Amino acid sequence: MKRVQGRSDHVVVVGAGLGGLATAMRLAGAGRRVTVLERESVPGGRAGIWQADGHVFDTGPTVLTMPNLIDDVFAALGEQTKDWLELEPVSPLYRTYYPDGSQLDVHSDIGQMAEEIAAVIGPDEAGNYERFVEYVRELYRLEMHDFIDRNIDSPLDLLTPNLAKLIAIGGFRRLAPKVNEFLKDPRTQRVFSFQAMYAGLSPFDALAIYAVIAYMDSVAGVYFPKGGMHALPNAMAAAAGAHGVDFRYNTEVTSVEHDGSRACAVITDGGERISADVVVLNPDLPVAYRDLLGIDPWSIRRLDYSPSCALLLAGSTARYSKIAHHNIHFGAKWRGVFDELITRSEIMTDPSFFVTNSSRSDPSLAPDGKENYYVLFPTPNNRARIDWKQFGPRYRDEMVRVMEANGYVGFGDSITVEQLTTPADWQARGMEAGAPFAATHSFSQTGPFRPRNLWGENVVFVGSGTTPGVGVPMVLISGRLAAQRITG
Ligand SMILES: Cc1cc2nc3c(=O)[nH]c(=O)nc-3n(C[C@H](O)[C@H](O)[C@H](O)COP(=O)(O)OP(=O)(O)OC[C@H]3O[C@@H](n4cnc5c(N)ncnc54)[C@H](O)[C@@H]3O)c2cc1C
Repeated sequence: MKRVQGRSDHVVVVGAGLGGLATAMRLAGAGRRVTVLERESVPGGRAGIWQADGHVFDTGPTVLTMPNLIDDVFAALGEQTKDWLELEPVSPLYRTYYPDGSQLDVHSDIGQMAEEIAAVIGPDEAGNYERFVEYVRELYRLEMHDFIDRNIDSPLDLLTPNLAKLIAIGGFRRLAPKVNEFLKDPRTQRVFSFQAMYAGLSPFDALAIYAVIAYMDSVAGVYFPKGGMHALPNAMAAAAGAHGVDFRYNTEVTSVEHDGSRACAVITDGGERISADVVVLNPDLPVAYRDLLGIDPWSIRRLDYSPSCALLLAGSTARYSKIAHHNIHFGAKWRGVFDELITRSEIMTDPSFFVTNSSRSDPSLAPDGKENYYVLFPTPNNRARIDWKQFGPRYRDEMVRVMEANGYVGFGDSITVEQLTTPADWQARGMEAGAPFAATHSFSQTGPFRPRNLWGENVVFVGSGTTPGVGVPMVLISGRLAAQRITG
């Protein structure tokens, strides 16, 4: 594995997103002096917070999976997660709703899930589901160590015995047909393949290896931290601070000073020069290349980006007794949704959407008698050139109309406070192409083909733009991979 060259006593980490925080914790655990510079007043980046009229909203991730990866980061400091963060399992993981009026709860307990499928769809499909779980478990076992949780310097590094096994079990065939080999009902097919969207791909184009995302949430469980998702970066920053990491908030880095391929310092918006043996960059990777390193290589310009989303956060007087913490509403269109969003870069004409009601699990997040709704509609990213300033307010009304048509009676009138975030806003917050889910995970942008986490002699990238990829679990792993470039 390639490592940074030269001294690495003082590491400057730019950005306190989950990737930057995970790296800082690991480096502090390995005895490095670490300074974190964050332009916002709080840690978390995309895992942010919005507080209004007594409501506390998460502004990014809401589905927290694989808590063992969180334990692993705290363990790097000799700490235990439970001393910093209260995690509760979410049950059901999701409630899913279909155009025929049926609904299916998704559970992580395999027996409970099989019972639910047997009751809603039938016993044959429950058996199919159990065989599918065996399959994704095997995929996960073959992929995790060799292809995800590892720094890969060359495509040749992929040539391991597990690659042959993955090929043999069909890991490099398309996801949707592979899922459909096991699952025969359109509802289970959707529930166990929509996760390809997290990777920026249609299940009809994604490789079957991406079924591991279904493993991570549907089989390994979904958790919710007390105080909301933002409690996670707060806990990580507090633990890092207790172990000597120096955090400087409201400090934007404007450039990385480098002499050829060796970085020697970062310059802040206040004009300060902070010298560093190693610089770790957590801002969105293409933006970090262009704006901080001052280079714009073709390998980065060529990247394709995942679809984006419009996010409506709403404080409301309405409570809907039939929903769960996480809710996925599928429209009648399935393949067509991906064609619209990804192939044609158009707004969905028959939306599938996601609603989280966080105050249901943690009432302290909303004032008495009020609820929090987090409503996410996938949209094309900004390469579609939609004028969101004009279109945003109209789309907000459309989101409310679709919610009401899907059983959220009186939703529009119940809203007391709200915030809409559109792809234009994601772009303004520093996400290339207005795409908060980063570069797609197509084959040519995955593993050794994804932008590397090492540049020059001593610049390391961390976060969803580099390896292994997007989402809280992957970004926590990217923190480990980044730290390994420094500590070995
Ligand atoms: C709406 C939404 C929903 C999501 N849902 C889920 C989900 O349910 N489950 C899941 O697992 N994942 C989800 N994700 C993805 C997940 O949130 C991200 O993959 C992850 O949080 C990205 O972390 P990061 O460290 O790569 O980057 P970021 O969180 O973007 O961190 C980068 C940090 O760098 C700082 N920064 C940038 N430029 C500078 C500068 N010049 N100087 C100083 N600081 C700077 C930023 O302020 C930020 O704090 C979601 C994301 C969004 C936006």
